[in-house]
Amino acid sequence: MEAKKIRRTFIDFFEKKKHHYVPSSPIVVKNDPTLMFTNAGMNQFKDAFLGNEEPKFPRVANSQKCLRVSGKHNDLEEVGVDTYHHTMFEMLGNWSFGDYFKKEAIAWAWELLTEVYGLDKDRLYVSVFEGDESDNLSMDKEAFDFWKEIVPEERIIMGSKKDNFWEMGETGPCGPCSEIHIDLRPDEEREQVPGNELVNMDHEQVIEIWNLVFMQFNRLSDGSLKNLPARHVDTGMGFERLVRAIQNKSSNYDTDLFSPFLKALEEKSGKKYGVDEQTDIAFRVIVDHIRAISFTIADGQLPSNNKAGYVIRRILRRAVRYGYTFLGFTSPFLYELCDLISENFGDIFPEVRLQKDFISKVIFEEESSFLRTLDNGLKRLDQIKAELSSKGEKVIPGEVAFELYDTFGFPLDLTSLIARESRLSLDEKGFEKEMEIQKTRSRAASEQEMGDWVSLRPDTGVEFIGYDFLEAKCHIIKYRTVKGKKGNQFQIVLDKTPFYAESGGQVGDTGILKSDYDQIRVLDTKKENDLIVHFVDKIPEKPEETFEAIVESNRRKLTMNNHTATHLLQSALREVLGDHIQQRGSLVNDQVLRFDFSHFSKMTDEEIQQVEEIVNSKIRENIELVEQRNVPIEEAKKQGATALFGEKYGDFVRVITFDPKFSVELCGGTHVPSTGRIGLFKILSEGSISSGVRRIEAITSEKAENYFRDKEKLVKEIQEVLKNPKDLKKAVEGLIAERNELKKEIESLHQEKAAGLKTELLSKVKDLGNKNVLIAKVALPGADALKKIAFELKNEIENSLIILAADIAGKPQISVAVSDSVLAAEDINAGQIVRDLAKEIQGGGGGQPFFATAGGKNINGLDQVVRRAEEIFLK
Ligand code: ATP
Ligand code: MG
Repeated sequence: MEAKKIRRTFIDFFEKKKHHYVPSSPIVVKNDPTLMFTNAGMNQFKDAFLGNEEPKFPRVANSQKCLRVSGKHNDLEEVGVDTYHHTMFEMLGNWSFGDYFKKEAIAWAWELLTEVYGLDKDRLYVSVFEGDESDNLSMDKEAFDFWKEIVPEERIIMGSKKDNFWEMGETGPCGPCSEIHIDLRPDEEREQVPGNELVNMDHEQVIEIWNLVFMQFNRLSDGSLKNLPARHVDTGMGFERLVRAIQNKSSNYDTDLFSPFLKALEEKSGKKYGVDEQTDIAFRVIVDHIRAISFTIADGQLPSNNKAGYVIRRILRRAVRYGYTFLGFTSPFLYELCDLISENFGDIFPEVRLQKDFISKVIFEEESSFLRTLDNGLKRLDQIKAELSSKGEKVIPGEVAFELYDTFGFPLDLTSLIARESRLSLDEKGFEKEMEIQKTRSRAASEQEMGDWVSLRPDTGVEFIGYDFLEAKCHIIKYRTVKGKKGNQFQIVLDKTPFYAESGGQVGDTGILKSDYDQIRVLDTKKENDLIVHFVDKIPEKPEETFEAIVESNRRKLTMNNHTATHLLQSALREVLGDHIQQRGSLVNDQVLRFDFSHFSKMTDEEIQQVEEIVNSKIRENIELVEQRNVPIEEAKKQGATALFGEKYGDFVRVITFDPKFSVELCGGTHVPSTGRIGLFKILSEGSISSGVRRIEAITSEKAENYFRDKEKLVKEIQEVLKNPKDLKKAVEGLIAERNELKKEIESLHQEKAAGLKTELLSKVKDLGNKNVLIAKVALPGADALKKIAFELKNEIENSLIILAADIAGKPQISVAVSDSVLAAEDINAGQIVRDLAKEIQGGGGGQPFFATAGGKNINGLDQVVRRAEEIFLK
């Protein structure tokens, strides 16, 4: 059975059992402080489990894109080294939200695996939670009894908390689980050692394929467990592992999910897969990582230097490094696999097909720049090797290995490999120590202690009423304190709220909450999954009172201007630059709007002007807002609404339209009732922020007005300075031309003067027989002129000793020049002379035997310089 059919069969099976199919949520998580990437199918249903949100369907089935490279679930180091952990993988799941529980979940899982997929019952093992004293939990007898009805008891294994109690993170929904494992070893081996001895023993051929989690608890921050409002089922089956089991392969990579990639890589590298273990690891790392990288970029996360972006960058670098070290790639190669990603996954995940060119461009730039870094790192390593060998040492110190890791992205194994090749060893302990120091430093910086929510009222979900109201009466449902290094944060959830929570680029509202007893300030509003969390300056004294929630309306209105202007800008960009324009990020607040979009070249001045003209003409048309709430997503798409990749949309969406022929977008933000409110639109800058992504910053309404007023004021001021000429530009041009003329004139005057001076000086030369001595006081415009004239005189006068005491625009300076012939014949040195004479002007200097200069402080000393020189050289 082909992989595609296997996936389809799973969904069909559960649809027949009344499950509703929901698409995968994006791999990059927004609005969740505890999670960067989706690491399990359940993430998108977290609020339904916690009771923050009514589940839309009691039964759901899906295939979720997951990434396990950070946080509680981090498999990165295993990937490629083994054959069944991936960075990005698909998790097939069926779900019950307060509907069926263990009995059905267990029976259906077994039916699907053995009867539909036809897996051999004798190869399957199941596990059951054995209980845990520290959590005061007893064995999962219920699950055990259901299993006993379908599998012989010797195939049921009791598992510890580590394996059989599933938790999403440090806190959150959790519960006991039953895993299904498969033994894929050949018969002879199975006869020798029974499979149940190898379950959960990291055996390559005895692996877990499916985990049935029975969600019952919420883990609180103090470590205690609280019962969830209802009991749920959350199952997760690794799709790649299932495919391998059904296709009867000894590695996930031998299935049709990966084989096209391995083949392409064999062709590109000229190396064979399956010959050498180290090369094989490199093959697996690369074909695994290209999926993770492509899918996350498709969901809007670009490689960068922090947070999620940095995780992606590290995955990409790991792939490049393996390709470079073991497959001999010295130029970019990963980006060429993007076509295959599109071909193989584009049907189920259209985002990788539609953005193929963009993804491959981003990867190309990123790997090119990392290859350059690698090169520099290797050069640095050469230096280090040379230093070590000059000192006769043979160990690369830990700090050096860490520098290579930190600055050049060299992981320890690469440095140690190169060290071995050069017969050096490496101080791994020292490296670990440096690593620990860095970790402690960054941990300390970000440490936060989340307090648990204190509930005041039943949690029935939060209603946002801020599209229609800026003020409302409301109640606090719950509150908590978050302790951080920089002081405490106070957070409040209201039953209904006019405060807009930061999302879709639009900043969160600020304002106040007021009761008869309290008045507190709302400093920011953010989403946490589907909760709307108000960040306040303190928890009210009497939190159970009724509060008046008041949004700071002017700030919100200015923000609305900018948000609507962003929509108009996006459509104008499409008109001017083309349909490839995709939003890559945005920021909308009361000051500016920032819009990032995919485009490969700098916009010309004309293009920018055209865009401004279109937006401003749409503002003048005063187009009315058409806001549709709760539109079925398919219907919205039919209307031509622009959706964003990597954004999580529900089945019902909000559609914001300003002229159905111009701007139709899926958007949860707040907008002006008609475009005329925006008043005016002005682009301030356009530039590149990373490969293929450009950023426009613009302003609207009063800000834009002020901008033009400031410009006008500046022009006026310049006009006044120039005594109000009729034509300002001509006047300035005239000034510049005049200035250039004057400059030329001054230069020629200086030259004339210098020529006159020279003639005068030549007449003062004293012939002493063995040498010609010139001692004089002069006035010159600059030090250069003094040097020039000293040299010219030296060239023109034979056997010369020239001493000039100069007044350079009020500053004393001395130049001494001596002919080579004089130097050769006498014990004379310009440097010494100048140092000696400089005393008269309270200065110092020096130079070479044939030419030296000195500056000083005392201008009145110049006559004395002349006198002394004459005493020494003319007497
Ligand atoms: P393992 O012990 O093998 O790492 P797990 O206990 O971490 O698995 P779960 O968190 O229960 O796995 O996830 C559910 C299913 O997802 C697993 O049964 C497995 O089939 C699959 N799975 C988990 N991690 C990975 C991974 N890194 N790559 C591919 N599939 C995975
Ligand atoms: Mg795991």
